[in-house]
Amino acid sequence: ATSSDEKAAALSTAPSDSPTIFDKIISKEIPSNIVYEDEKALAFRDISPQAPTHIIIIPKVKDGLTRLSTAEERHVEILGHLLYVAKLVAKQESLDGFRIVINDGPLGCQSVYHLHVHLLGGRQMNWPPG
Ligand code: AMP
Repeated sequence: ATSSDEKAAALSTAPSDSPTIFDKIISKEIPSNIVYEDEKALAFRDISPQAPTHIIIIPKVKDGLTRLSTAEERHVEILGHLLYVAKLVAKQESLDGFRIVINDGPLGCQSVYHLHVHLLGGRQMNWPPG
């Protein structure tokens, strides 16, 4: 998919608390390329990579955490854990520098309403992001 496909998907996805495709990845109902797993988090390769390494890191229990803008105090621990997992996976992937992205809402180009951290690396990143 191109970045404009991603944008179209994001703009046509209404924010909601319904189950997402990530629940099926957690339950292994649909296959994914898992690179890291612990009791609280799962990391798998993005199906439409935007960099040589593009990994999605998610909480295994959503607990209402659809997007960062609706996070509550109880989510602080898992939010911190997801960033720490990003660091572990970056090391596992031998990344020398990387980028972490959390898209929020239609304007932020979020298309899956189960909070997730993107880990991107393996190429020179640009600034500002699109
Ligand atoms: P976002 O646009 O921030 O909501 O990111 C959602 C990401 O999930 C996109 O980069 C998609 O390519 C990715 N994605 C969607 N479905 C799958 C899937 N079945 N396996 C792996 N990645 C997926």
